[in-house]
Amino acid sequence: MVEKLPGSRDFYDRIIRCNNCGFCEAACPIFKATRRSALNARGKMIILQDILADRQAICDELIETLFQCTFCSGCTTQCPAGVNVPEILRAVRKDMVNIGTCHAAFKGMDQVLDKHPNIYAAGERERFGRKVNQKAEIVFFMGCVGQYREEDAVEAALDVMDHLRVDYTLIEEVCCSGVLEDIGFAIHDDLVRKNVALVRSTGAKALVTGCPYCLRTFKHRAPYQPLRDLGLELLHISQFLTQFDFPVQTHLKVTYHDPCDLARHAGIYEAPRQTIKKIAPNFVELPNRRANSLCCGAGGGVRGAYPRNSLSMARQRLKEVEEVGADILLTECHSCVHNLSNARLRRQKFEIYTTSQFIRRLLEGQALVAANKAP
Ligand code: SF4
Ligand code: SF4
Repeated sequence: MVEKLPGSRDFYDRIIRCNNCGFCEAACPIFKATRRSALNARGKMIILQDILADRQAICDELIETLFQCTFCSGCTTQCPAGVNVPEILRAVRKDMVNIGTCHAAFKGMDQVLDKHPNIYAAGERERFGRKVNQKAEIVFFMGCVGQYREEDAVEAALDVMDHLRVDYTLIEEVCCSGVLEDIGFAIHDDLVRKNVALVRSTGAKALVTGCPYCLRTFKHRAPYQPLRDLGLELLHISQFLTQFDFPVQTHLKVTYHDPCDLARHAGIYEAPRQTIKKIAPNFVELPNRRANSLCCGAGGGVRGAYPRNSLSMARQRLKEVEEVGADILLTECHSCVHNLSNARLRRQKFEIYTTSQFIRRLLEGQALVAANKAP
């Protein structure tokens, strides 16, 4: 299949703003993992400039380049010309999908959500023995990765909220489907309607998500305007936890990985650190942190479509954890904890958790000590 991009000329100005300086290279996790210049932001922009100048036709061979991006925005942060690569690629991918050029794995994700309420086509799950679709102050939204791949992280967040005596309910949630917009498709309206109706029925004043990507989808994507119209507070679990103190501390050396979706994309840097520093005074930062954080390699559909490169990116990040000599790596995203855990090498002895998992671990330790002391 050989065609031109029909609609992306709207982005002409943004694409030609790239002057090919290459400053983005150092921030690009795919380039770091593969050393392939075509895969970093500069390489992608050169290809798009060629397409717009009719020097290159769009074809299936370009899927490898234009669909292999974690949407981490590391390049955007470094770019002196203000080129927003994920924003450009989102539009380009839409055009590519419209002319029938798309990675099979991404097409599969869209088709799965036509038939199933979650991205893994998994059957109905027990909801951790918690109340579901009930009246409560707070709705906790688990997200597909948490519910079907990182169940322990979800359960830990629920355990911590139970410890704090929070009045929450789960809902029979379906995939927020925000990721579809990143891979050239559209959010599914039926899924939006179901989530909004379920949240509304609880009468909750706040919606707390375990997944930073779900939070971004609820806060910013157009189809979720009806959810925002309910007027409830939309928070990530890391923001919610800052209101509380925990009667536990660790002497271990703890570090923190800023997830792209929570940090660069949602601007939430301080909330997780606030909680972590309360429980881990021996906190140490990674070399690349906050806006300069290095992506774990899981985003933009890359974990499913390019698993080997996705793991290589995660290993780049884990090298930094070794460098600082941390005992514990905490993060605040189910996809990050999943990819980083899968990528950890046998010799890497540090443990990887969400902050809630680590708090629960400390609380359980305290409970065990208390039990030992009981007469
Ligand atoms: S830093 Fe910006 S202008 Fe320079 S090559 Fe990368 S995307 Fe282009
Ligand atoms: S968004 Fe991330 S993965 Fe994609 S080109 Fe930019 S730095 Fe590389």
